[in-house]
Amino acid sequence: MLQKTSHFMRQANLINGEWVQADSGQTIDVINPATGLKIGTVPKAGGAETRRAIEAAEEAFKSFRKTSALERSKLLRKLHDAIMDNQDVLAELLTLEQGKSLTESRGEVGSSAAYVLWFAEEARRTYGDVVPSPWADRRILVTKEPVGVVAAITPWNFPSSMLSRKLGPALAAGCTAVVKPASQTPYSGLAWGALCEEVGFPKGVVNIVTGSAGEIGDELCTNPLVKKITFTGSTEIGKMLIQKSAMTVKKVSMELGGNAPFLVFDDADLDRAVQGAIAAKYRNSGQTCVCTNRFFVQEGIYDKFVEKLAEASKKLKVGSGLDDGVQQGPLIDVKAVEKVEEFIEDAVAKGGKIVSGGKRHALGGSFFEPTVISGAKSNMKFMKDEIFGPIAPVFKFKTEAEAIEQANDTEFGLACYFYTGDLGRAFRVMEGLKYGMVGVNEGIITTPEAPFGGVKESGLGSEGGYQGMTDYLDTKYVCIGGLGL
Ligand code: NAP
Repeated sequence: MLQKTSHFMRQANLINGEWVQADSGQTIDVINPATGLKIGTVPKAGGAETRRAIEAAEEAFKSFRKTSALERSKLLRKLHDAIMDNQDVLAELLTLEQGKSLTESRGEVGSSAAYVLWFAEEARRTYGDVVPSPWADRRILVTKEPVGVVAAITPWNFPSSMLSRKLGPALAAGCTAVVKPASQTPYSGLAWGALCEEVGFPKGVVNIVTGSAGEIGDELCTNPLVKKITFTGSTEIGKMLIQKSAMTVKKVSMELGGNAPFLVFDDADLDRAVQGAIAAKYRNSGQTCVCTNRFFVQEGIYDKFVEKLAEASKKLKVGSGLDDGVQQGPLIDVKAVEKVEEFIEDAVAKGGKIVSGGKRHALGGSFFEPTVISGAKSNMKFMKDEIFGPIAPVFKFKTEAEAIEQANDTEFGLACYFYTGDLGRAFRVMEGLKYGMVGVNEGIITTPEAPFGGVKESGLGSEGGYQGMTDYLDTKYVCIGGLGL
């Protein structure tokens, strides 16, 4: 296994074109969540290594910013091809460190490549404007320029694709980058360094440091050479990074936590809704920011929906992501399992009923049964908090207005979903939901062509779509006078 992945499994940091260890020589162990066994180590770097990475990125920016859009587009296309040529190997590495099924890992790696291709295309379309001038002898131009050194911090649940949405637009715009992958899944992030080297990005353009999150984060947020922080992770850490970045007035993009509602109305296609529910709930064992956190089902079809969802959830094959046919891998660690158990205990104590699952899986370790809980109430913990695990709590509602109100009753605003067969209702509900992304009769909606992002405390800015480029570009107004016209 490791034999096949070893070329991309870099147990070192990439700083200014060199693969290096931490100054202290200290390392962090990386564990396979399916077996609990160590896969390897990565350097435990801190502030000093991060500073060197930033300085290397700043130096590289001086020439990289001058490359043509076409040149950068070609490099990104090569990067796309390199990812796809190695899709299976990269997927295997992802499953080894993260646990998700190989099918999902292949999907994630494919999605990473698709984002890179999208931004390769967008690189050539960062248009400015020629604005009608109010002065006869002056002309007004508005141009777009790369912001400079970008710091990218990514989470463990999508260690490859979360980076593609940051590196893709950064490199397309002509920025250079310092990346900090999550400590539990660093190899998929470090693999980007190997891929970028392979396709010919100059040294210092992409730097990757692993290690102490606090020290690396502090340096990235406070160093004046860094012009933008792009972060995907928890709302708690996101808020802290925004505060720390304020002293040097950096641009910030934040993809933070979610609490996605999934509404099913009496007039919905029930089987389609159940199919969408399974995809929107149990993907990556419930560990995605857009995973359904709360199901709201109208009273007329409530019992039927719960029955069918439980039936379908029982059929999900749980096991090591590397095994054939597995649909749900382990949770990332035992702490995550304990958190899931707390949600269940709290719900049962308040009158919730476990319809399927509800306990650790017979496989042991951090495997957990796909779970459905009926009789969910607004005083239960999952009404407010992100579950990040395979529990589907199902609430009952009577009216459309009530459903919208409950769905919006959260400080989060990332993704939401609803199922209805009524066109008028589709528009009313879509407009009533305060979320950055809405799936109507669809449970999986992410694609590079569309802006992915949240409102309220789920974040700032969008990744993907043409909007995904804007935060990596500064707008410059140029007034050309004295034209003698
Ligand atoms: P997390 O604990 O916030 O960690 C995310 C990243 O931040 C990791 O690389 C982590 O490093 C780093 N970090 C931790 N403390 C830091 C600090 N003081 N300064 C700088 N960086 C720091 O989140 P997670 O548990 O990995 O990911 C799950 C969360 O991400 C969920 O809330 C989920 O909803 C959210 N998420 C959002 C989106 C979106 O697009 N909106 C997508 C995916 C996930 P270490 O690993 O070294 O601790």
